[in-house]
Amino acid sequence: MPERVLVVGGGLAGSAAAIAAQAHGASVTIVEKSRLPRHKVCGEFLSPRTFEILRDLGVADAFHSCRPALMRRVVLNFAGREKRFALPAPAYGLSRYALDELLLSHARSLGATLVSERPQEVFGRTVLAYGRTQSAPKGNRLFGFKAHFAGEANDAVELYFFGEGYVGVNPVEGGITNVCGLALESVMRQHGFDTDTLIASIPALRERVRPLTRQMDWLRVGPVIFSNRFRESPAPGEYRAGDALSFVDPFTGSGMLGALLSGQAAGLAAATGQAPQSYQNAMRQVLGRSYGISGIIRWGLRKSWAPWAAQALSGRLLFAATRP
Ligand SMILES: Cc1cc2nc3c(=O)[nH]c(=O)nc-3n(C[C@H](O)[C@H](O)[C@H](O)COP(=O)(O)OP(=O)(O)OC[C@H]3O[C@@H](n4cnc5c(N)ncnc54)[C@H](O)[C@@H]3O)c2cc1C
Repeated sequence: MPERVLVVGGGLAGSAAAIAAQAHGASVTIVEKSRLPRHKVCGEFLSPRTFEILRDLGVADAFHSCRPALMRRVVLNFAGREKRFALPAPAYGLSRYALDELLLSHARSLGATLVSERPQEVFGRTVLAYGRTQSAPKGNRLFGFKAHFAGEANDAVELYFFGEGYVGVNPVEGGITNVCGLALESVMRQHGFDTDTLIASIPALRERVRPLTRQMDWLRVGPVIFSNRFRESPAPGEYRAGDALSFVDPFTGSGMLGALLSGQAAGLAAATGQAPQSYQNAMRQVLGRSYGISGIIRWGLRKSWAPWAAQALSGRLLFAATRP
């Protein structure tokens, strides 16, 4: 009898887990509470290494047929002061609408069953890939927002920082530009929770977005809390993956890479019976360092020294340090 694996969450980590588990002989049920595909709040910047994992998962052709945008440059903007550098390898821009759909469809084409409610039956092994879950008391929480814009697109990922918040501007498929960011509750309140007004208050960003036309209502999400569970003891038979294992600050643009890496490893571990603690230790080795460095940079944003450090350090070093 094949091993039966339940995957909770049909996002990137869940679909990667379902594909990897089936490649290792398991029979998989995915429980996804939402109707997919759908737009998600995400910068949609895929770190260069992501393609290797997508290829391992067997979706390289499907990925290319979505015609993802290519990015070759990074622009960091701190209140008008800019740092520019070339990416060590091209990165991709693909909407979550397309990416989540292509991975979930592939998992289903391999035989995974998709259900919308958790089945009654007991599964010996479960991959928990249900994304971020934390809540936080009202106060100075961070909220995320995103919308797609039409207009001339370029080949850069541009990050506009304002205090602890930032807005990323980068291309995705179809000549669309994604505008996505995070802002403190107090800053959102100053602007009446109106994202267009917030953007208009940041001069360099206002000029960047001025020639573009918004194509959809702003999507919002929050509160956004950074956390990791690498050191928590997993329950028997349970493998956490993606944001449910750890959520890295989005300015790194490496959350999706981490979700695919941990999802793939969790699916393999669940199918082959690797002990959950051993899987989790391996994930801490792979992801822990870059997640720790991202946490230090976030602290630097809060204390206002991060812009100075970013100017002083080499762009390639900064980029490499925040990637698994
Ligand atoms: C503002 C912002 C910008 C970001 N920008 C980038 C970026 O540019 N590049 C990057 O690499 N990363 C970025 N990230 C991070 C990235 O979005 C996440 O790391 C990634 O989505 C994690 O994938 P996941 O599969 O773990 O979780 P998710 O994508 O959240 O998927 C979880 C799935 O589980 C489902 N689910 C939840 N609860 C249940 C339940 N109880 N039962 C069944 N299903 C359930 C949900 O409906 C969802 O489909 C950004 C994040 C934010 C907030």
